[in-house]
Amino acid sequence: MTTIPVLIATRNAHKAKEIARILPAPYEVHTMAEHPEIPDPVEDGTTFAANAAIKAEAVSARVPGLVVADDSGICVDLLNGAPGVMSARFCGEHGQDEENNRKLLRELAALPGQAPYRAHYACAISLAEGGRQIASFLGTVEGQITLNPAGTGGFGYDPLFIPDDFSNRTMAQLTPQEKDSISHRARALQKLARFLAERGN
Ligand code: IMP
Repeated sequence: MTTIPVLIATRNAHKAKEIARILPAPYEVHTMAEHPEIPDPVEDGTTFAANAAIKAEAVSARVPGLVVADDSGICVDLLNGAPGVMSARFCGEHGQDEENNRKLLRELAALPGQAPYRAHYACAISLAEGGRQIASFLGTVEGQITLNPAGTGGFGYDPLFIPDDFSNRTMAQLTPQEKDSISHRARALQKLARFLAERGN
């Protein structure tokens, strides 16, 4: 089978690893580790879809072939959807998972008696080529935040998030295969894979 290269426009190694695990053959995942010369674009969109498009278009303007970007995060009902698009930098600094988690737990602990803390993860996947978005896809997974973090799998907010589909474990307590069977990222990527197959890629 001929492989089809897809460049994933992220420097988040956790995301790239999940995407490589989820995207089926014939797609062959390449990462930004192969492109240290490409600067990270400013993610100033107000939605996951807008930020995913910014990343996919910026990177695909610099390299030939298909580029896929993932913008994702967690949205908590009681916090009016926060951290949302600010998920990676909720504590003020980019990519500080433990600090982000501590801040989220502090904010929810300050709202006693309001559990369950309903929340969802969302993932927007943008597909671009030649600097232009071709299509975008959204995946979500519903659940709740626990004030008792558990588990060492996954990344980011996973120790705090109990998905409805596995209601006695956090996302960080699931096996990678279990996470991929329900995750926001897998749901968006399944739509992408269907789209690419129908398009003849
Ligand atoms: P982005 O790189 O701007 O899309 O930010 C994504 C952020 O959302 C990550 O840094 C995590 O904090 C959070 N996030 C997204 N997907 C997941 C996931 O699958 N598990 C845990 N946290 C996630």
